[in-house]
Amino acid sequence: MKTILTIAGFDPSSGAGITADLMVFRAHGLFGVSCITGLTVQSTLGVRATHPVAAETVRATLDCLWDDVPVDGIKIGMLATAENVSAVAGFLTQVRQERAGIPVVLDPVLRSSSGKDLLEPNGVGLLRERLLRLVDWVTPNLDELVLLSGRSVRERDDVPEAARLLQHDASGLNVLATGGHLPTPDDFVLTADGRMRWLAGARVETRSTHGTGCALSSALLCGLVRGDADAPQAAKDYVAGALRAAVPIGKGRGPVNHLWEMRSSR
Ligand code: PLP
Repeated sequence: MKTILTIAGFDPSSGAGITADLMVFRAHGLFGVSCITGLTVQSTLGVRATHPVAAETVRATLDCLWDDVPVDGIKIGMLATAENVSAVAGFLTQVRQERAGIPVVLDPVLRSSSGKDLLEPNGVGLLRERLLRLVDWVTPNLDELVLLSGRSVRERDDVPEAARLLQHDASGLNVLATGGHLPTPDDFVLTADGRMRWLAGARVETRSTHGTGCALSSALLCGLVRGDADAPQAAKDYVAGALRAAVPIGKGRGPVNHLWEMRSSR
């Protein structure tokens, strides 16, 4: 079984963050290891507080795992602070020197749906300037696409140009932009070679939508590591299934059902 690493925040309600990522990895037949960048105090009713983990602890955890475990891919989610962005950028620089080919997916988690910052404001520019050129894929939702590109995205036709702007200083970057807030929830793919396409989506009527972004980016990494023919489409199909199979948990926006389908390891 291959092993992959998630660098992300802890959500005690398990809809998003590290514990959700590990379920997605398991559902794809992969073994997950993790590095926590911040604790959140949250339930299905929203995020009440965040408590970042010190950047020294993040880097020490990454070094400790990297020295020991043969990591086949990396997913990055909530980073909480600018210092953690720098720590992860330093780690990825080393990863690129030592094992250039392993896939790295960045979910640029900036803010929770309930409105709490999950990356402090001075970390956003750093994420754009340092991390985008060190990863293979970035998976922004529409709000994140606006903040990272500096372009307003009002409708579907605005998405391709905003996605292209993310590639400006990061020529090897592939973009999977999620369109969950568009009238039709299609996702947009822009690959490093400039090819573009839309992945058609159908709206699933459910309140259990917490953690869809984490699930999509983790499933994308799994597809890349497994060598799936069309990893973005496979990830979108997986999230659609997890939304359809969700059972209500909690009083608010419950989690998707990460373990709805167990894909065999390859
Ligand atoms: N908490 C953590 C640790 C996350 O990583 C995320 C999103 O990636 C969230 C909360 C926010 O999830 P949502 O936007 O579904 O509320």
